[in-house]
Amino acid sequence: MKKLTLLLTLLTSTLSLADRIAIIGAMDSEIKILLSQMKNIEQEEKASVVFYKGKLENKDVVVFKSGIGKVNAAMSTTIAMEEYDVNKIIFTGVAGAINNNLNITDVVVSDYLVQHDYDTTVFGTKKGAVPGSVDAKFSADKNLINIAKNSAEKVLGKDKVYVGTIATGDQFIADKKTVQALESEFGAWAVEMEGAAVAHVANLYKTPVVVIRSMSDKADGSAHMNYNDFVNIAADNSAKIVINMLSQM
Ligand code: SAH
Repeated sequence: MKKLTLLLTLLTSTLSLADRIAIIGAMDSEIKILLSQMKNIEQEEKASVVFYKGKLENKDVVVFKSGIGKVNAAMSTTIAMEEYDVNKIIFTGVAGAINNNLNITDVVVSDYLVQHDYDTTVFGTKKGAVPGSVDAKFSADKNLINIAKNSAEKVLGKDKVYVGTIATGDQFIADKKTVQALESEFGAWAVEMEGAAVAHVANLYKTPVVVIRSMSDKADGSAHMNYNDFVNIAADNSAKIVINMLSQM
């Protein structure tokens, strides 16, 4: 009897150690390769978001399209945390390049994320900082950053991969002035519309997170045109990196 209890305890602790990784994209284009390679898919809709639970590279995952913007990202991530026993979060997608070193289709892996449109500075807080917190930036997980960087270098080559701050806001940025402001205010490398919201939720749940973004545009006056031309290539780049990451985890 004692042996059986011991065995059961061991078994349950081993089972609870197994990862379930949430993989999030904002748009269909960002998750399509992932869905096409998933096995044993069970799908469920909650609050208008379809969650695909199953196996990818033999790992337990839940993949979903959050929808665009911070509210969509935060709500769907919260549902994943509450309903799917998630213990790691990877966001995959496209972004506008801020840093001059970046070319379209290059990749930025987040070390930090900031909500660039969060502003209570009139009360003396830092731009981007949520009142009550000291830092404006949310940190990504060191281990996930390393795995993402290595995988990105394998998939795209070393000279196309950077690690840096990703800025998030409910705006599609398409002008040079804002690009310069995001760089000088936050040291941002890339700008998008979901990452810091996902990282905010992940940090509240004390769950490791990383955001991977391939550049669809340069967030300048031609951003909307470049975006249309490159969104699919960039989205695929990022998804391929995630698949490589899973094989290393
Ligand atoms: N074409 C879409 C809108 C895309 S919004 C439609 O109308 O359905 C841009 C998406 O790509 C967001 O999910 C955002 O995270 C990312 N993105 C790419 N370039 C961006 C930029 N320059 N500024 C902000 N977000 C950008």
